[in-house]
Amino acid sequence: MSSTKNICPLCGGLKKQGTATFTVDMEDTLMVIRKVPATLCSLCGNEWLSDEVAANVESIMEETKNIHRQVEVTKYRKVT
Ligand SMILES: [Zn+2]
Repeated sequence: MSSTKNICPLCGGLKKQGTATFTVDMEDTLMVIRKVPATLCSLCGNEWLSDEVAANVESIMEETKNIHRQVEVTKYRKVT
C-alpha cells in the first residue's frame, strides 16, 4: 500500500513534500497564507494537506476574519 502512497491519483506523478501558498477570497479580506506544509505533485502541481494542517489553516482564517483588511498576507503558523 505504501508503494502507491506517493503517487498522484490524478496524473500518476510523484508526490513530494513541500510548501504551498494558499489564497482565500473572503468577504472582506483577500487572504494569502504562505509556507503551508503540503504534499505536492511534481508533475501536475496538485496539493494535499494533512488534516492537522487543514484545521490549522482554518484557525488562521478565523483569526484573520476579524482584521478587516483588504489584503492580509500571513505565514503559516501553529494556532492552538
Ligand atoms: Zn499529479
